[in-house]
Amino acid sequence: MTERSDSSDTTKCPLCGDVNECAVASGRDPESCWCMTATMSASALAAIPIEAQGKVCICARCAAGTPAGD
Ligand SMILES: [Zn+2]
Repeated sequence: MTERSDSSDTTKCPLCGDVNECAVASGRDPESCWCMTATMSASALAAIPIEAQGKVCICARCAAGTPAGD
């Protein structure tokens, strides 16, 4: 089986695979999500896979433009 769950799991960052802590994915009020007040790095937004854009939140670390694993 080669079923992929990367872009369908809305609780995980499509860039690094870490939990994105998105309020929407957790079933909470979208307005309580950290991403509503965070400033997204342009390079991070550009790196989001097409299939994940508009569906899956990235994590705070990637949004800030900080490479994972540093
Ligand atoms: Zn991330």
